[in-house]
Amino acid sequence: MNRFFTARALHADTVIDLEPAIQKHAIQVLRLSEGDQLELVGPEALPHLATILTAAPLRVQVGAALTRRTELPVAVHLICGIPKGEKAELIVQKATELGAAAISFFNSQWATAKWAPNRVVKKLERFQAIAQGAAEQSHRSVVPSIDVVTLNEMTKLHADARLIAYEESAKAGETAALVAAMARRPQSLIAVFGPEGGLSPVEVSTLQSAGYVPVGLGPRILRTETAPLYLLSAVSVLSELQGD
Ligand code: SAM
Repeated sequence: MNRFFTARALHADTVIDLEPAIQKHAIQVLRLSEGDQLELVGPEALPHLATILTAAPLRVQVGAALTRRTELPVAVHLICGIPKGEKAELIVQKATELGAAAISFFNSQWATAKWAPNRVVKKLERFQAIAQGAAEQSHRSVVPSIDVVTLNEMTKLHADARLIAYEESAKAGETAALVAAMARRPQSLIAVFGPEGGLSPVEVSTLQSAGYVPVGLGPRILRTETAPLYLLSAVSVLSELQGD
């Protein structure tokens, strides 16, 4: 079933008109029509079933709230060194599917890619739209927020677990820190990733002084766009999947 995020308040057994952008997507692109059902997520982040009453305007009867939980039990905030080319888009889309709560980018010392300051606002708008599409596609209840942060701001962020995905830790055989952090059942987790050139020793020591812990993500050195996706997958396995 198709899911849409709406700014309208959702209450069971009420009739509401949805925004023109949703009307266009649902009716013109997906060719839904009267009687079809869809899922809506409103400002309360609680999905509801809804039935289309009229296509233009797109008027729906709001049904019961859906109880199936799709959010990761750990609010994961990824902070990625600005990568080259279209990789930021890929990180935003895939990390949203995998459950990230927030995604930030930072101007890392060893990054070759730089974002012109006058283009950042437009970039973030595009990333936010990509995140919304991915959140709808993956049946999330929350669209992750996307922004740009500085190293100094990173040192002041709070979370139950604050990790640095560090390639040098992986090369030194570090395999326990992520599992140990997850064993403490954090409700929130920040993970920092370097760009293609990796993290500089100054960045790592600055973050360590602020309480961040370096972790290895296995013996293979992953591409800058792969490492955050690995971390989210590992968090899912360690917090959502169960054996017999
Ligand atoms: N240029 C670096 C090198 O040659 O060692 C590799 C950088 S890697 C492409 C980009 C980022 O992904 C790293 O800075 C780190 O944050 C993360 N990363 C990749 N593989 C990792 C691993 N096995 N363990 C921890 N972090 C990893």
